[in-house]
Amino acid sequence: MAGYIPYGRQSITEADIAAVVDVLESDFLTQGPVVPAFEEAVKAQCGAKHGIAVNSATSALHIACMALDVGPGDSVWTSPLTFVASSNAALYCGASVDFVDVDPRTYNMCPEKLARKLDKAAEQGTLPKVIIPVHLTGQSCDMAAIHAAASRHGVRIIEDASHAIGGCFRGEPVGNCRYSDIAVFSFHPVKIVTTGEGGMAMTNDARLAEMMALYRSHGITRDPDLLQQQDAGPWYYEQHHLGYNYRMTDINAALGLSQMERLQAFVERRRAIAATYDEAFAGLPITTPWQHADAGSAWHLYVIRVDRSRASQSHRAVFDELRSAGIGVNLHYIPVYLQPYYRQLGFEPGLCPNAESYYAEAISLPMFPSITDEQQQEVIAEVSKAVAL
Ligand SMILES: *Cc1c(COP(=O)(O)O)cnc(C)c1O
Repeated sequence: MAGYIPYGRQSITEADIAAVVDVLESDFLTQGPVVPAFEEAVKAQCGAKHGIAVNSATSALHIACMALDVGPGDSVWTSPLTFVASSNAALYCGASVDFVDVDPRTYNMCPEKLARKLDKAAEQGTLPKVIIPVHLTGQSCDMAAIHAAASRHGVRIIEDASHAIGGCFRGEPVGNCRYSDIAVFSFHPVKIVTTGEGGMAMTNDARLAEMMALYRSHGITRDPDLLQQQDAGPWYYEQHHLGYNYRMTDINAALGLSQMERLQAFVERRRAIAATYDEAFAGLPITTPWQHADAGSAWHLYVIRVDRSRASQSHRAVFDELRSAGIGVNLHYIPVYLQPYYRQLGFEPGLCPNAESYYAEAISLPMFPSITDEQQQEVIAEVSKAVAL
């Protein structure tokens, strides 16, 4: 479509292409040296001790739940405003899920609501084993408060940081796991850094790293120290757990490694785009993204909320008008528990009122480093027209 401006897209340079071609011409397309090099680069950026690269963030969430022993009879809580994968990962393990409503300003899991829900669950003997806060749009959750509430009850934490590589909390990079057991990144093309498809699970816990590395590749080990039968032969390996083939290829890792060199530039450009939107929308009947003082967003998404009492048109009409004008707006996300699959598990509308009122008003605008100033001005003009008083 001519002039169509998507909500997100990858930025690929000649250097990215050359890095991928190098792998194609090398001896290893997978299980070579580039995956560990990419893991090193991400560890160095976020300051975590271990990084397990996999073929998607969905896989990373799954092996993270497995490493924390999530299974039948356990429950896992997450945010309703997320991609379905955050919650599906727990279902893969046979656990049940529940949702904690969001803060009305950040749209992230509300620490006070979490604390109250945990206290109640403790009284009833229904505490979750794991919670999965999600850094929606790239803005970190209040991880200090979430960690304080969860650790009072011995509940473990997986951060779904799919939107947030390059972001920070209290001046430290997201993914350093100061307030969590594991943090997960996504490298899908719409995210901050891409590998085509890919993800990584970060942790400071050697045992969790070891388990996730096993689950990534069939539960198989070749480590001589771990083998039950020693000296069986050079071909020998043992399967100790039921794992999967969730490995990342070296082709994908080469793209990611090359992209990591531009992470700071990506985030700076995204921040500048956000500042331009903020300024342009100041007088309009829309709510621009509120920022928590402790969080430095990676700006994966720029979400506006249409003020239903003041805008000239409904949320739906504004959305449709922008789409017909060639602006690839989107909505992140439909509250997960409203999905038919989750309704059939027994969830009902009304569970998380803040998430539902967000859903009735939110629109994700185009936000990606290579958007031109002209394109952004076009988005601003169309939004202004669509919500005009
Ligand atoms: C993109 C995304 C995922 C899934 O990532 P994949 O790499 O596509 O599997 C999970 N959670 C959130 C919040 C996401 O945005």
